[in-house]
Amino acid sequence: MAAMTISDLHKRFGPVNVLKGINLEIADGEFIVLVGPSGCGKSTLLNIIAGLEHQSDGTVEIGGRRMNGVAPKDRDIAMVFQSYALYPTMTVRENMSFGMECRGVARAQQGEAVTRVARLLQIEPLLDRKPGQLSGGQRQRVAMGRALVRDPVLFLFDEPLSNLDAKLRVEMRWEIKQLHARIGSTIVYVTHDQIEAMTMATRIAVMHQGEVQQFADPDTLYNRPANLFVARFMGAPP
Ligand code: ADP
Ligand code: MG
Repeated sequence: MAAMTISDLHKRFGPVNVLKGINLEIADGEFIVLVGPSGCGKSTLLNIIAGLEHQSDGTVEIGGRRMNGVAPKDRDIAMVFQSYALYPTMTVRENMSFGMECRGVARAQQGEAVTRVARLLQIEPLLDRKPGQLSGGQRQRVAMGRALVRDPVLFLFDEPLSNLDAKLRVEMRWEIKQLHARIGSTIVYVTHDQIEAMTMATRIAVMHQGEVQQFADPDTLYNRPANLFVARFMGAPP
């Protein structure tokens, strides 16, 4: 079964058409990268998948279930934001538990989940610190940890590395790929960075002005771009 099917998805903000009929079918366990220039609609698409925005038209199905009208907390999804969105007054442990606390998960089970994920991401020594006492890379790991404790079927990342310096960005790419190999969840990862897309994705959707220009594996995109935009954006000679 498809992990996610997006059909004829449209989004208008007032008179502006931001998404103009997106169709994507994603298989279980894939690492999909949405790439495209700033303003092309990547975050809007991700927010609709997460249920944080409503589409104007079309459907999103996750695991065969239509998501129209399903609240974000009832979707089997976790999202990592560019800004990390950690709570500054809470410790790392509290940041990671907060979502479970809100959903009424028993304390013992919360503790187990935090321990398991902290070990996986090697952030156990940081559990009692607050976000202000962490480096950029550590904050990034905690933001991923907070998403991972949900054990979601689908992971959404919105430009998670763009606040990190170049060296750390390369390291974290590798870590996220490793993580994907270990947990096997389906990932939809947004970036405006072509190299990040080429190195991480099983398949890449190249977006431009609210439309998917091409959806293919990195090799095909590079060697057989569907049009001039894809060729230029992905860096292959036209
Ligand atoms: P990306 O993530 O690819 O940079 P976005 O999805 O954030 O692009 O934005 C796509 C377009 O939609 C942009 O032109 C942006 O200005 C517009 N947009 C996004 N959110 C809103 C909103 N809440 N109201 C009006 N316009 C919006
Ligand atoms: Mg964005």
